Amino acid sequence: MKVLVINCGSSSLKYQLFNMETESVLAKGLVERIGLDGSALIHTVTGKEKVRLERDLDNHKQAIALVLEALTDPEHGVISSFADIEAIGHRVVHGGETFSGSVKIDREVMAALRSNIDLAPLHNPPNIMGIEACTEILPNAVQVGVFDTAFHQTMPDYAFIYGLPYELYKKHGIRRYGFHGTSHQYVAQRAASLCGKSLDEVKIITCHLGNGASITAVDRGKSVDTSMGFTPLEGLIMGTRSGDIDPAIPFYLMKQLNMSYDEVNDLLNKRSGVLGISGVSSDFRDIEEAADRGDQRAQLALRAFCYRVIKYIGAYAAAMNGVDIIAFTAGLGENSPPARAEICKSLTFLGAEIDEQKNNIRGKEADISADTSRVRILLIPTNEELMIARETKAIAANA
Ligand code: AMP
Repeated sequence: MKVLVINCGSSSLKYQLFNMETESVLAKGLVERIGLDGSALIHTVTGKEKVRLERDLDNHKQAIALVLEALTDPEHGVISSFADIEAIGHRVVHGGETFSGSVKIDREVMAALRSNIDLAPLHNPPNIMGIEACTEILPNAVQVGVFDTAFHQTMPDYAFIYGLPYELYKKHGIRRYGFHGTSHQYVAQRAASLCGKSLDEVKIITCHLGNGASITAVDRGKSVDTSMGFTPLEGLIMGTRSGDIDPAIPFYLMKQLNMSYDEVNDLLNKRSGVLGISGVSSDFRDIEEAADRGDQRAQLALRAFCYRVIKYIGAYAAAMNGVDIIAFTAGLGENSPPARAEICKSLTFLGAEIDEQKNNIRGKEADISADTSRVRILLIPTNEELMIARETKAIAANA
């Protein structure tokens, strides 16, 4: 079965075409600047050079049509006809409380997706546009929605409820949802398998440390708590997002600094995090380099980032009354031995000891714990696209 995985942003579209018999990627790419000047498709067939096709693209439908053109092109293509694509898996950011798993998309699901737009006004509309475009162009393919929030729907009420009037949850859906669910689920599955265990016998803390960052407590296969909340702004200090702050700070900014709602929103989402603290960059590579040169604000940003990660790991070990595996993933988690070492230095009280030699590795699955460590510490490159393709295949097979 060939499965196309689509991830639509407001002006971009990422795709991967999988052959699910071997779970291999046949081709992948990115359409950028949709609806803007200079739109283009960057397409890579596995094992070949990238090709760039420049084309005016007004909307996501034209972008999908161009992706299909590239996939079936006599020169850069990997399939002979659109009909070879049996199913399409769409990444959808917010499923609210409606979706606790992936679903085959039909009219009712589309209506439910539209009713969740208020929960993710920036992300869900482009996701919906992508689904509509694919349904129009490939009406015979099974369309599947895979939600970033679904894995966390197993959280108990005492973990997802905020200390706010209960009606705000009941009437307006204000609660913790959590995000990066596909990544946490994939990493938890790989972590258990790498340790030769079944998911239902281990307690895992998955640390997705990228530009967006979140940590999840996975107790015997179920997400029981996660650091992102009602929106992806809560939790860890991120590239440009503040993570946890005193909720009274926005009032102070509005009252004392005369900032508007839009300015505060922009400040917390785009100008905070390690960028805001360091003043250097949101990219951890630049910050690590500046810190090595002795830049004190860059050093402070790294220390504050790692300290917040340590606190969440400690909290989630307590939430699960123990932890068997700690797994690192995403840009920084996969590629920064110094960050992993700094975090693990404070986790020996849990019986988690890192091996400095084994930790000297980037972007590959590895057990980086010391032989004496009671907790396994793992590095697992995430693969959200493969997870989406697997979910899509399972649903399409029963459709
Ligand atoms: P992601 O959002 O998962 O793509 O992660 C992006 C983040 O990972 C960026 O802040 C990058 O700086 C960081 N990253 C990627 N490679 C490295 C590296 N070799 N060392 C440190 N940080 C890295």
